[in-house]
Amino acid sequence: MTQEWTRIRYEQPVDRVARIVLARAETANAQDYQLLSELNQAFDRATKDAQIRVVILAADGKHFSSGHDLRQLNPDMCHFPTVGTWASFDQPGAEGYMHREAEMYVGLCWRWRNLPKPTIAQVQGKVIAGGLMLVWPMDLIVCSEDASFSDPVVAFGVNGHEYFVHPFEAGARLAKEMLFTGRAIGAAEALQRGMVNKVVPRDQLEAETLKLASHIAERASFGLTLAKQSVNQTLDAMGMWTAIQSAFGLHHVGHNHNQRLFGTLVDPAGIDIIRKQAKEG
Ligand code: ZN
Repeated sequence: MTQEWTRIRYEQPVDRVARIVLARAETANAQDYQLLSELNQAFDRATKDAQIRVVILAADGKHFSSGHDLRQLNPDMCHFPTVGTWASFDQPGAEGYMHREAEMYVGLCWRWRNLPKPTIAQVQGKVIAGGLMLVWPMDLIVCSEDASFSDPVVAFGVNGHEYFVHPFEAGARLAKEMLFTGRAIGAAEALQRGMVNKVVPRDQLEAETLKLASHIAERASFGLTLAKQSVNQTLDAMGMWTAIQSAFGLHHVGHNHNQRLFGTLVDPAGIDIIRKQAKEG
C-alpha cells in the first residue's frame, strides 16, 4: 500500500484487527473533506484485507472529534473520489451544498455503517456534532470515563447533524433532550442509556478496546458479517434509512432558511450559544 495519508494512520496492532486512527489532535480531530476521504480509503483497505476481521476507529489526543471543520466548507471536490452518484457539487442555490452533504456526510456515514466487518469506536474526551457521525456508524462503542457526546447544532438553526440517527442511538426522549438543550451526555449516563457498550479508565481505553476486538476476531468472519447484517436489516425494517433521508431534507430546509435570513448556512447566533455552553462545561 502506498497511500500517503496526512489526517489518519492505519495500524494492525494484532492479527486480524485493523486500527484506523484520527491523527489531527491539533484541531481536536476536526473533520475536513480530506480526513473523511482518507478515512473512507482506510475502511476500504481494512475491508478488502482478508486477514482483517475487526476494525477499530480510534483518535489521537484529548478529544475524539470536535465535529466538522467549518473553516473548509466548499473545497474543490475533484480531490475527493466520490462513493455515490451525487455530482452537482458546485451548482448555485440549494443544489450544490445538498449534493456535498449527501455525498461527504450522509453517504460516507451510511457506507461505513454497512461495512461487512464489525467495527468498534474507541472514544475519549469530547464527541461533538459531526464527531457523532464517526462514532454512530460503528457497531460497538468503548469509551473512557471522560468521554461525552453532544449535538448542539440546533443553536445553528438546523435539526441536528446530517446523519440523523439520534432517536435510534439515544431513544426518542433523550434524543429530543440532547437536541433541544445541546447538553452533553457523559460516559456513565451513556452507558446507562445503552448508548455505549463499555466505559473504562482513560489509561486502559486502548488495551480494553483491543481486547474486545481480539475476542470478536476469534469468530468466523462470515458469521460476523451475517450477524451484523441481520441487526442492521432489523434497523432498516424499522425505517432507519427512510428516517435519515427525511431528516436530511429538513436539515436542508434549515440550511436554506439560514441562507435567506443571514446569508450563511448556519445561524451565526449559535456560535455564542455553543461557546457559552462549552465554557459552563
Ligand atoms: Zn449541514
